Amino acid sequence: MNFDAVIIGGGLAGLTCGIALQQQGKRCAIINNGQAAIDFSSGSLDLLSRLPNGENVVSFDRSFSALSEQLPQHPYSLFGKQKVLDKAQQFSDLAEKLGLNFIGSSVQNHLRVSPLGGLRGTWLSPSSIPTVLMSGEAFAYRKIAVLGIEGYHDFQPQLLAENLKHNMQFAHCEVKTGFLHIPELDLLRSLSREFRSVHIAQALEQKVDFDALVSEIEQTADDAEAVFLPACFGLDSQDFFNQLQQKTKPTLFELPTLPPSLLGNRQHQALRKHFEQLGGTMMNGDRALRAEFDEDTAKVRCIFTQIHEDEPLCAEHFILASGSFFSNGLVCEFDKVYEPVFQADIVQTTDFNPTDRFSWTDRRFASPQPYHKAGVIINAQCQVQKCGAFLTNLYAVGAVIGGYNPLELGCSSGVAVVTALSAAEHILQRN
Ligand SMILES: Cc1cc2nc3c(=O)[nH]c(=O)nc-3n(C[C@H](O)[C@H](O)[C@H](O)COP(=O)(O)OP(=O)(O)OC[C@H]3O[C@@H](n4cnc5c(N)ncnc54)[C@H](O)[C@@H]3O)c2cc1C
Repeated sequence: MNFDAVIIGGGLAGLTCGIALQQQGKRCAIINNGQAAIDFSSGSLDLLSRLPNGENVVSFDRSFSALSEQLPQHPYSLFGKQKVLDKAQQFSDLAEKLGLNFIGSSVQNHLRVSPLGGLRGTWLSPSSIPTVLMSGEAFAYRKIAVLGIEGYHDFQPQLLAENLKHNMQFAHCEVKTGFLHIPELDLLRSLSREFRSVHIAQALEQKVDFDALVSEIEQTADDAEAVFLPACFGLDSQDFFNQLQQKTKPTLFELPTLPPSLLGNRQHQALRKHFEQLGGTMMNGDRALRAEFDEDTAKVRCIFTQIHEDEPLCAEHFILASGSFFSNGLVCEFDKVYEPVFQADIVQTTDFNPTDRFSWTDRRFASPQPYHKAGVIINAQCQVQKCGAFLTNLYAVGAVIGGYNPLELGCSSGVAVVTALSAAEHILQRN
């Protein structure tokens, strides 16, 4: 089988790269083996929330030079400020075209309310999530009702309400809690392991009495001006939630629940659908196993997968978008961390050595953990290093790239889309 580009991994990075290539007429295949990190995420995309020295980032523009001084090996530092901002804008434009209903911009981060009632700096958030500006203005509503669903444990209204009031933007608010009784969920509730956001959303979309649901929300919310709900209303898109909003008096907001998260899942579905509409080939349920290389040209010749073990997948370009440990894009054994498909070189930093397990963790559980910096080495074109040299037709995008700690810096989704669009641009310029 022959393609212009074969992408390994169909998460945020792989799909964004695939869309950019398909849009320009490249024939792409995405080999994908299972769920992606975006299915578990909050639905808000972080560009850069903190610097390595712990300082909070308000504006990417203003903080970029500090980032590149403190962490020259960060992918953003390799690309330069303008390229990161251009690619971030390109992704925002794509998201708008797909109707992803994001608010926020790369000019300034905003704060989203977390499921535990804290505030987290971020770049783009679904418009249905409660957010406030970083400048400290008070939340626009005074009376808030945080409503859970009876028997649903992946969202805790009391905890959220109690913590919310400690943020100065919510100090003026009267926050009360309650639980919605939705009879259509009674059967599901009795199967407690099935009582998760995805199943609730499915059940509600299929058989809820819509008007009864509206009146249950209004009655439980009482005189509240704003209602915070768990994100269980709308499986594949925000449409069901928007319809509910149109019929309900108080302003509705939704919050991510414990994973799986519908907010991230909706974005995943939209990207995947768009890639396929553009003619891209999704090879779901398959797993890239190994590659063959052409030593003379420093190129990947082909790869083999679980389903196509004897039939090589050949392409001009290969894109490694297989994620980090969470998605098995990186694998950890007792004495080494490695990338399993291409055996690409793994980054080594001052505090992380892929072959010295004593360097992988910090003794303090809450400290940034050095193993989060694990990942493959790339250059400014996203080409991947193997045995000390860069392969000319293998690119890495997203969480499989190493050299920075995405949790500490709050930059994982930004890195995913910026590297994906940069790699696609480089591939398109080469042809
Ligand atoms: C629990 C969780 C919560 C998060 N929350 C947030 C958040 O709130 N905000 C934010 O900005 N970021 C968040 N992130 C990070 C962010 O979602 C990810 O960094 C980003 O989506 C990474 O995308 P990716 O495409 O690089 O990798 P992934 O999403 O990990 O996708 C990689 C895909 O490749 C597939 N794959 C791996 N190996 C192979 C193989 N050999 N063959 C075929 N397929 C393969 C995997 O199955 C997976 O589907 C979160 C991450 C996690 C894990």
